[in-house]
Amino acid sequence: MTLQTMQKMIEDTQQCKEITKVNEDWYYVPTPEGRICYKVMVTPDGREYCTCEEFGKNPSLKCPHIYAVINAIRTGDFIDIDNLPMNKLGEITSIINEAMNG
Ligand SMILES: [Zn+2]
Repeated sequence: MTLQTMQKMIEDTQQCKEITKVNEDWYYVPTPEGRICYKVMVTPDGREYCTCEEFGKNPSLKCPHIYAVINAIRTGDFIDIDNLPMNKLGEITSIINEAMNG
């Protein structure tokens, strides 16, 4: 299974309603409809990444999801994945992280 396939799977399966912090640099960002979720990276040293199509086409511009994460970091308005009641997100995240590190 490719990383892209897994990202698509995540986008298809997650019912994401709020910005969710996955780890130090990674966040899940819901679309306004809450149907899918993009994975966004924002690091303290200014690196940024998003799995959405818009960012894929033009990585030099910040997409709305990156802006949402930057704003959430500033205001503290996100939930930590450790506080989620179910472990499903964590399982998917570990699969993704393994794929990215491998
Ligand atoms: Zn995006």
